[in-house]
Amino acid sequence: MSTVQLSNNEVARRPLGVLAALPQELGDLLAAMRAESGVRTVTLGQRDYHVGTVQGTPCVVTLARVGKVAAAATVSALIHVFDVEAVVFAGVAGGVGRDVHIGDIVVADMLLQHDLDASPLFPRFEVPLLGMARFGADETLSAQLAAACESFVAQEGGALSTRFSTQMPRVHRGLIVSGDQFVASAAAVQALRDALPDALAVEMEGAAIAQVCFEYGVPCAIVRTISDTADAHAPASFATFLVEIAGAYSTGVLTRFFQMRG
Ligand code: SAH
Repeated sequence: MSTVQLSNNEVARRPLGVLAALPQELGDLLAAMRAESGVRTVTLGQRDYHVGTVQGTPCVVTLARVGKVAAAATVSALIHVFDVEAVVFAGVAGGVGRDVHIGDIVVADMLLQHDLDASPLFPRFEVPLLGMARFGADETLSAQLAAACESFVAQEGGALSTRFSTQMPRVHRGLIVSGDQFVASAAAVQALRDALPDALAVEMEGAAIAQVCFEYGVPCAIVRTISDTADAHAPASFATFLVEIAGAYSTGVLTRFFQMRG
């Protein structure tokens, strides 16, 4: 597929790709882009790619929808069609680490597909023929995101915990694992902890994005707010968090992230 024709001010700087799975996870980002630069929307493969600027940064903002295939296909289009210089994903996840609570934020250092298993031909979790199980997030981009999260939590954490009856939010850095399951039982969380003791959070897209970005040499960073603890309460907790809280986190973190870059 050929590259989409970009207007003069769009070619000056390669854009940043900004992704979420679900609309609530983008917070006010599209509204901010609409107000600042206006938005040009390109529809490809049943997804809308919104082109504009946020605090002066050229961006392509889109929704991957749910799961590893959806995420891989979408990030691939961001790379090939929109020539993004880097990719940032913002969304929610289930907490797996014992210290990771609802309302906390996890910025990925590493990502792994917890449901990938071609053993005994290849070690469990390893991507066959690539020889890797863990994919690193970009250090600079992740540090910027983590700084944005720390600033958000310092300034708004108290109000958030009162408003949403959560603990005082904390920011964690570490391993995020991804698979094509919504994890929602104590047994499943325990199995993840047993197999991957350093896993902090579980979701359904991040490691697919990290693999594609690794293969194309495109830096990526993933930030996840904990919506549930991947146990029997997860469906209700996820649904409430997504509708009532996820947007406030994404707006708070992404606004600060773009201010720091701008
Ligand atoms: N479209 C449905 C289902 C979303 S699936 C809905 O809106 O109700 C859950 C989404 O949140 C995925 O994108 C996944 O990345 C993340 N997520 C949150 N908690 C999760 C958990 N416990 N297990 C797996 N993914 C989780």
